Amino acid sequence: AEYICTNCTGSEKKKVAFTCKSRFCNRCGKVYIEKWVEKQTERILEIGHRHMVLTVPEELRVMFYRNRDWLKDLSDKAAEVIQYWYREKGRKRGYEVGAIAVIHTFGRD
Ligand SMILES: [Zn+2]
Repeated sequence: AEYICTNCTGSEKKKVAFTCKSRFCNRCGKVYIEKWVEKQTERILEIGHRHMVLTVPEELRVMFYRNRDWLKDLSDKAAEVIQYWYREKGRKRGYEVGAIAVIHTFGRD
């Protein structure tokens, strides 16, 4: 919606966006994602990053569909494995690795 004060001359238009607040809506979900990315960007260090994509084999997807809480366990374990691997690899270098896990349950395979 666009508002303007009819009593003032030269007042600026004020735009107010409506949202269905769904992450699954193409329009509202895009805004949600942009805000999420902005928040994550503020939190992460300005160093090199790796992007890893882990997928659930198609045969197991129905089990995760029926047990949605397994997705959290899976992402926690995946992060642990990644941190373990980098801890072993980086032992001499003395660094710890952080991980941000994001679960995608639909879209591209
Ligand atoms: Zn929407």
